Amino acid sequence: MQVAVIGTGYVGLVSGVCLAEKGHSVICVDIDAEKVDKINNAIPPIYERGLETLLKKNAGTNLEAITDLKKAILESDISLIAVGTPFDGNSIDLTYIEEVARQIGEALKEKTDYHVVVTKSTVVPGTTEETVLPLLEEYSGKKAGRDFGVGMNPEFLREGEAVDDFMFPDRIVLGGIDDKTRNVMAELYSPFEGVDIVRTTPKTAELIKYTANSLLATMISFSNEIGNLCTALGGIDVVDVMRGVHLDKRLTPIMEGGERINPSFTTYIEAGCGFGGSCFPKDVKALVAHGKKAGLAMRLLDSVIQTNDVQPQKIIEIMKKHYPSINGVKVAILGLAFKPGTDDMRESPAIPIIKGLIDENAVIKAYDPVAKEEAMKLFNNGKIDFCDDLSLTVEGAEVVALLTRWDEFNILPELLKNMDPQPLLIDGRRMLNKDDITRYDGIGL
Ligand code: NAD
Repeated sequence: MQVAVIGTGYVGLVSGVCLAEKGHSVICVDIDAEKVDKINNAIPPIYERGLETLLKKNAGTNLEAITDLKKAILESDISLIAVGTPFDGNSIDLTYIEEVARQIGEALKEKTDYHVVVTKSTVVPGTTEETVLPLLEEYSGKKAGRDFGVGMNPEFLREGEAVDDFMFPDRIVLGGIDDKTRNVMAELYSPFEGVDIVRTTPKTAELIKYTANSLLATMISFSNEIGNLCTALGGIDVVDVMRGVHLDKRLTPIMEGGERINPSFTTYIEAGCGFGGSCFPKDVKALVAHGKKAGLAMRLLDSVIQTNDVQPQKIIEIMKKHYPSINGVKVAILGLAFKPGTDDMRESPAIPIIKGLIDENAVIKAYDPVAKEEAMKLFNNGKIDFCDDLSLTVEGAEVVALLTRWDEFNILPELLKNMDPQPLLIDGRRMLNKDDITRYDGIGL
């Protein structure tokens, strides 16, 4: 199929590259000419494992990037809208979606073939049919359902695993205004064999995405609240508590022969310094705001956000147990991205933690395997020494704060063993064995 993908961020670029890899002919569109150039030169503008290889393979053959949206629509059978949908403090900001819908409408005016427009961005229930569809009709002068199709296909990829998640999805949700639309969407995904497909309406598809993210965010805040309770009570480690909870056979079913299906903790029921990223915080807030508009106070999800908002502060509280004044204390921050496998700094818990440390005049070194450049854009006041090497970062540190669960940090017990004096390690993700480190503290201890 001829596919247009509008917006080449984490979702748009990964979707475009993977759909090209599956044999479709993809045109990626972005307003950012620099990104477009990079894509055409097979240089991924973001870090995502496996992306570069697939981009190199497909750029110039199955995939091209352009800034001309109209051309992309005229040359494609289906278009996926993958622009950002930030939360503006009161509600979801649909500026980018609306602008793209207007432009697609304009292009549809000149298109003679049937075309399906699909929202892939995360949007609150009702957006595709009540905002996108009317704009498409207004600017094309045509009728949805008769002249073109409109659908919603939420994206579930996780940053850090985005390429694998797209290539091997656990489900595909096809929300369409009619069967004709859903059939075209199904054709797009026909190379993904054996995957469970949910055929539904756009509005239901929209809520499936929010519900999935809200459930995961709730699990994280729940675990963090239990972790904070362990700290308050004393003498209990949240890691032991959650291990005991996780072994419930409803969470990790026991197969014939006694083996567990998923005996390891999922990261969602582990205590830590909070969730971040471009999705969970904004999506939960947007859903709560949307519920309020509909007259429903969403108390549980409101609390999920409140718990998360204060969670990064716990790292500084732990530090203050050991160093009542942080002024002049040498702190090594390990991990800046909001999760491993990505350079995405959006809403990363590292941001409020670093800001808090700067306010208290700590002496800060920081290291992240891939997010250094993104972090430097946020903290460009010369107050942080960004390092390229893990051992140089911890050298001379009095406190080492681990904030992102990068595999590379498993070497820390070995690295810290010979340091004199021993630094305090604050494990913000509870990823290391506390018995392997001389001075260890962490969330939920
Ligand atoms: P992003 O900010 O990384 O990318 C958005 C891109 O859209 C940018 O490259 C921007 O230049 C481009 N853009 C903006 N206006 C445009 C226009 N008029 N025409 C063409 N391009 C335009 O965003 P993202 O993280 O990829 O997220 C996109 C959507 O997908 C959001 O709704 C998000 O909630 C959702 N989502 C994100 C993830 C994730 O892990 N990042 C996962 C699932 C869903």
